[in-house]
Amino acid sequence: MSDRPFSFETRLLHNNQKFDPVTGGVSVPLQHASTFHQTSSGEFGKYDYSRSLNPTREALEEIIAEMESGTRGFAFSSGMAAISTAFLLLSQGDHVVISEDVYGGTYRMVTEVLNRFGIEHTFTDMTDLNAIKQAIRPNTRVFYIETPSNPLLKVTDIRAVSTLAKQHGAYTFVDNTFMTPYLQKPLLLGADVVLHSATKFLSGHSDTLAGLAVVKNKKLAEKLYFLQNSFGAVLGVQDCWLVMRGIKTLSVRLRQSQLNAARLADYLSGHPSVIAVHYPGLKSHPQYDLQNQQAEGAGAVLSFELESEQLLKDFIQHVKIPVFAVSLGAVESILSYPAKMSHAAMPSAERESRGISSCLLRLSAGLEDPEDLIQDFAAAFDYALLPVQQGGLK
Ligand SMILES: *Cc1c(COP(=O)(O)O)cnc(C)c1O
Repeated sequence: MSDRPFSFETRLLHNNQKFDPVTGGVSVPLQHASTFHQTSSGEFGKYDYSRSLNPTREALEEIIAEMESGTRGFAFSSGMAAISTAFLLLSQGDHVVISEDVYGGTYRMVTEVLNRFGIEHTFTDMTDLNAIKQAIRPNTRVFYIETPSNPLLKVTDIRAVSTLAKQHGAYTFVDNTFMTPYLQKPLLLGADVVLHSATKFLSGHSDTLAGLAVVKNKKLAEKLYFLQNSFGAVLGVQDCWLVMRGIKTLSVRLRQSQLNAARLADYLSGHPSVIAVHYPGLKSHPQYDLQNQQAEGAGAVLSFELESEQLLKDFIQHVKIPVFAVSLGAVESILSYPAKMSHAAMPSAERESRGISSCLLRLSAGLEDPEDLIQDFAAAFDYALLPVQQGGLK
């Protein structure tokens, strides 16, 4: 008989947190205490104060560490809190090489906060290894990757960038929000720090704000723990619990959402009013092969460009099923407008030059029947196109 380890799907449920060792309860107990009674003046117990360590948060931190094949996980009050705390590994005078179509909040942190502390950055096309090499400076300490990127779904070679980073004595940070460890495990590809907005697929129900970080190197884990405790942007226990509950169904949710995204990408590719579809699951995607090598799938997020901004406005007005909102990775489909939402923090000239046009929409596929979504989209396109074709009803 083979004694292969349980698969990822099974371990989402059957891990160290399967039941509470004290009561047998099949759910991690909520430990609301902010402080813990100590029994002697000389020696303190494992827990003393909840910012430093809390048993409920610790359970989530163990789960995400195991999922990402890391040694230690950290839970933060939001994705941006996780990302910002990880950036505190840098010091004045250091330099970051970063994906040019990075999440808008990360862009803001790097360009408007870190710069005030003397931390420099260079945005670069991370799909182009030569461009990355040109961006390197003697003080480069971090290579920051989002793959697939937001919102253009460009794919970066995690292994190649991590190798380059090691040659320069720098860390590789990977924002793994779009893939989750179900589809991609950056630490196994050489990355040093994995970051998540757990607000998205990991929680999965548009009802929690949370961030996670995972590392594999024990020294780096100590440094990040020190920063988590110093900065203090930890995740509250109720939210830890919600993230843990979301994680239990991650694989079934993401598998179905991914199927739906693929169906919609096909449909949109064939629509005459859609001029481009960005989805790494399409054979026409420039990094289709790379995505297949480093990840187990293309995920559930895609973006598409329409013929005109007017069409985009009319389409949004008439589409019924997806919520029109920021965010992604939920049970319901979410349609968003990067130019005015996730990337509103980016000056419009910068944004356009990065290919994030005013005609681009991003879709995070949820769990609806994909045929309903297609029918809804088709009707919205028909409606949006109607006045023009009939000589301007409006
Ligand atoms: C949402 C998001 C973030 C920020 O996370 P919050 O939980 O909103 O703070 C960071 N990176 C990516 C890719 C995201 O989608």
